[in-house]
Amino acid sequence: MNIYRLLKFNRHIRSNRIKLLLIFTAHILNRRYYSVRIDPVFACNLRCLMCYFSKSRKSESRKFSRFEFDILAKNLFGNALQVMVGCGAEPTVHPNYFYLVELAKKYKVPHVGLVTNGQLISKTDLETLSRIGLNELTLSVHGAVKETYEQFMVGASGIS
Ligand code: SF4
Repeated sequence: MNIYRLLKFNRHIRSNRIKLLLIFTAHILNRRYYSVRIDPVFACNLRCLMCYFSKSRKSESRKFSRFEFDILAKNLFGNALQVMVGCGAEPTVHPNYFYLVELAKKYKVPHVGLVTNGQLISKTDLETLSRIGLNELTLSVHGAVKETYEQFMVGASGIS
């Protein structure tokens, strides 16, 4: 399933009533119809100027356990069209973020993505993510050249 084609189709439906009816029908028929966006940990390795983490001196580390991942997956992934790992923090700070991707694939979620600043991801990590079935990798980049990138993303290292 191409999630972006589905979103494009959604834009063509003008009536909110029809959209709600489609969602209701999908729910009644126990089909997949929503997106799950989850931060496995509320922490980040960087301190970007425009981000709430820039005000935090100590690294927050509230994070989901594997047990909590299992409960989340059991309750949410069965009807999810999409799971995006990372939305307001940095998922790769969590030592088990791969497990969340694996769980989403185990529950046969059609589209699984990771949103990251990419600073902690190694080549081996990329190979692992590819092997376990990640569909999309989104890199957060707040600067198109090394100088602005490193100025805005405090703590990041850009390649010149
Ligand atoms: S990488 Fe993202 S979450 Fe981390 S400090 Fe920058 S904007 Fe915030």
